[in-house]
Amino acid sequence: MRKQFAVIGLGRFGSSVCHELNEMNHEVLAIDNDEQKVDKLSKHATQAIVADGTDEKMLKNIGIRNFDHVIIAIGEDIQASILCTLILKEMNIKQVWVKAQNDYHHKVLDKIGADKIFHPEHDMGQRIAEFLTSEKVIDY
Ligand code: ATP
Repeated sequence: MRKQFAVIGLGRFGSSVCHELNEMNHEVLAIDNDEQKVDKLSKHATQAIVADGTDEKMLKNIGIRNFDHVIIAIGEDIQASILCTLILKEMNIKQVWVKAQNDYHHKVLDKIGADKIFHPEHDMGQRIAEFLTSEKVIDY
Protein backbone atom coordinates (compact mmCIF):
# COMPACT_ATOMS: atom_id res chain seq x y z
CA MET A 1 0.00 0.00 0.00
CA ARG A 2 1.33 3.47 -0.92
CA LYS A 3 1.84 5.58 2.21
CA GLN A 4 2.47 9.28 2.73
CA PHE A 5 5.62 10.41 4.51
CA ALA A 6 7.13 13.82 5.18
CA VAL A 7 10.83 14.14 5.97
CA ILE A 8 12.07 17.36 7.57
CA GLY A 9 15.85 17.88 7.39
CA LEU A 10 17.76 16.55 4.42
CA GLY A 11 21.23 15.85 5.80
CA ARG A 12 22.84 12.46 5.12
CA PHE A 13 20.29 10.65 7.24
CA GLY A 14 17.13 12.45 6.11
CA SER A 15 18.05 12.23 2.44
CA SER A 16 18.81 8.54 2.75
CA VAL A 17 15.36 7.97 4.30
CA CYS A 18 13.77 9.93 1.41
CA HIS A 19 15.67 7.91 -1.19
CA GLU A 20 14.58 4.60 0.27
CA LEU A 21 10.92 5.56 0.72
CA ASN A 22 10.83 6.92 -2.81
CA GLU A 23 12.40 3.72 -4.16
CA MET A 24 9.66 1.79 -2.34
CA ASN A 25 7.16 3.90 -4.27
CA HIS A 26 5.73 5.76 -1.29
CA GLU A 27 4.71 9.40 -1.45
CA VAL A 28 7.48 11.54 0.05
CA LEU A 29 7.39 15.23 0.89
CA ALA A 30 10.95 16.44 1.58
CA ILE A 31 11.58 19.69 3.46
CA ASP A 32 14.76 21.59 4.29
CA ASN A 33 15.56 25.24 4.89
CA ASP A 34 18.68 24.93 2.71
CA GLU A 35 17.87 25.37 -0.97
CA GLN A 36 20.90 23.39 -2.15
CA LYS A 37 19.87 20.36 -0.09
CA VAL A 38 16.36 20.54 -1.52
CA ASP A 39 17.62 20.84 -5.12
CA LYS A 40 19.92 17.87 -4.63
CA LEU A 41 17.11 15.70 -3.35
CA SER A 42 14.25 16.81 -5.57
CA LYS A 43 14.60 13.86 -7.99
CA HIS A 44 14.16 11.42 -5.12
CA ALA A 45 10.94 12.76 -3.60
CA THR A 46 7.39 13.31 -4.76
CA GLN A 47 7.72 16.94 -3.75
CA ALA A 48 10.65 18.84 -2.24
CA ILE A 49 10.28 22.28 -0.71
CA VAL A 50 12.50 24.90 0.89
CA ALA A 51 10.94 25.77 4.25
CA ASP A 52 11.64 26.12 7.93
CA GLY A 53 10.39 23.12 9.90
CA THR A 54 9.65 25.34 12.89
CA ASP A 55 7.27 27.57 10.94
CA GLU A 56 3.87 26.46 12.20
CA LYS A 57 1.92 28.50 9.66
CA MET A 58 3.86 27.01 6.77
CA LEU A 59 3.37 23.47 8.11
CA LYS A 60 -0.38 24.09 8.29
CA ASN A 61 -0.46 25.61 4.80
CA ILE A 62 1.27 22.67 3.16
CA GLY A 63 -1.22 20.32 4.80
CA ILE A 64 1.22 18.43 7.00
CA ARG A 65 -1.84 17.23 8.96
CA ASN A 66 -2.62 14.88 6.08
CA PHE A 67 0.59 12.94 6.67
CA ASP A 68 0.35 10.00 9.01
CA HIS A 69 4.05 9.82 9.40
CA VAL A 70 6.64 12.60 9.73
CA ILE A 71 10.36 12.00 10.20
CA ILE A 72 12.33 14.87 11.73
CA ALA A 73 15.99 14.56 10.80
CA ILE A 74 17.19 17.99 11.85
CA GLY A 75 20.59 17.39 13.43
CA GLU A 76 22.63 20.02 15.15
CA ASP A 77 19.90 22.57 15.75
CA ILE A 78 18.37 20.77 18.72
CA GLN A 79 16.08 23.69 19.51
CA ALA A 80 14.57 23.53 16.00
CA SER A 81 14.16 19.76 16.26
CA ILE A 82 12.31 20.09 19.59
CA LEU A 83 10.07 22.92 18.39
CA CYS A 84 9.19 21.07 15.19
CA THR A 85 8.31 17.94 17.20
CA LEU A 86 6.14 19.95 19.57
CA ILE A 87 4.24 21.65 16.74
CA LEU A 88 3.58 18.35 14.94
CA LYS A 89 2.42 16.56 18.10
CA GLU A 90 0.10 19.48 18.89
CA MET A 91 -1.33 19.02 15.40
CA ASN A 92 -2.05 15.40 16.32
CA ILE A 93 0.20 13.83 13.69
CA LYS A 94 -0.02 10.13 14.51
CA GLN A 95 3.61 9.15 14.08
CA VAL A 96 6.40 11.66 14.63
CA TRP A 97 9.80 9.97 14.48
CA VAL A 98 12.79 12.05 15.47
CA LYS A 99 16.54 11.78 15.19
CA ALA A 100 18.18 12.65 18.52
CA GLN A 101 21.57 14.23 18.85
CA ASN A 102 22.34 13.20 22.44
CA ASP A 103 20.74 11.83 25.63
CA TYR A 104 19.39 15.21 26.77
CA HIS A 105 17.76 15.76 23.41
CA HIS A 106 16.30 12.24 23.65
CA LYS A 107 14.83 12.95 27.10
CA VAL A 108 13.09 16.13 25.95
CA LEU A 109 11.75 14.47 22.80
CA ASP A 110 10.34 11.67 24.93
CA LYS A 111 8.62 14.14 27.27
CA ILE A 112 6.95 16.05 24.45
CA GLY A 113 5.55 12.91 22.86
CA ALA A 114 7.86 11.87 20.01
CA ASP A 115 6.62 8.44 18.93
CA LYS A 116 10.02 7.04 18.07
CA ILE A 117 13.45 8.45 18.81
CA PHE A 118 16.57 7.17 17.17
CA HIS A 119 20.30 7.77 17.22
CA PRO A 120 21.41 6.53 13.78
CA GLU A 121 25.14 6.20 14.47
CA HIS A 122 24.64 4.52 17.82
CA ASP A 123 21.82 2.26 16.58
CA MET A 124 23.85 1.18 13.55
CA GLY A 125 26.93 0.49 15.71
CA GLN A 126 24.80 -1.67 17.98
CA ARG A 127 23.34 -3.61 15.06
CA ILE A 128 26.75 -4.23 13.53
CA ALA A 129 28.13 -5.45 16.88
CA GLU A 130 25.12 -7.75 17.33
CA PHE A 131 25.54 -9.08 13.80
CA LEU A 132 29.28 -9.63 14.22
CA THR A 133 28.73 -11.66 17.36
CA SER A 134 25.70 -13.57 16.11
CA GLU A 135 25.87 -17.17 15.04
CA LYS A 136 24.89 -16.18 11.54
CA VAL A 137 28.38 -14.83 10.88
CA ILE A 138 30.62 -17.59 9.61
CA ASP A 139 33.77 -18.01 11.70
CA TYR A 140 36.69 -16.84 9.65
P1 ATP B 1 23.26 14.16 9.00
O1 ATP B 1 24.15 13.41 9.96
O2 ATP B 1 21.98 13.46 8.71
O3 ATP B 1 23.96 14.64 7.78
P2 ATP B 1 23.42 16.27 10.90
O4 ATP B 1 23.19 15.56 12.19
O5 ATP B 1 24.84 16.68 10.56
O6 ATP B 1 22.78 15.47 9.73
P3 ATP B 1 22.45 18.87 10.22
O7 ATP B 1 23.24 18.81 8.96
O8 ATP B 1 22.71 19.91 11.22
O9 ATP B 1 22.47 17.51 10.95
O10 ATP B 1 20.88 18.97 9.85
C1 ATP B 1 20.26 18.11 8.95
C2 ATP B 1 19.48 18.94 7.95
O11 ATP B 1 18.45 19.66 8.61
C3 ATP B 1 20.32 19.97 7.18
O12 ATP B 1 20.18 19.72 5.79
C4 ATP B 1 19.74 21.30 7.61
O13 ATP B 1 19.75 22.26 6.54
C5 ATP B 1 18.32 20.92 8.00
N1 ATP B 1 17.69 21.86 8.93
C6 ATP B 1 18.23 22.42 10.03
N2 ATP B 1 17.36 23.23 10.64
C7 ATP B 1 16.22 23.18 9.91
C8 ATP B 1 14.93 23.79 10.01
N3 ATP B 1 14.61 24.63 11.00
N4 ATP B 1 14.00 23.50 9.07
C9 ATP B 1 14.28 22.67 8.05
N5 ATP B 1 15.47 22.05 7.90
C10 ATP B 1 16.43 22.30 8.80
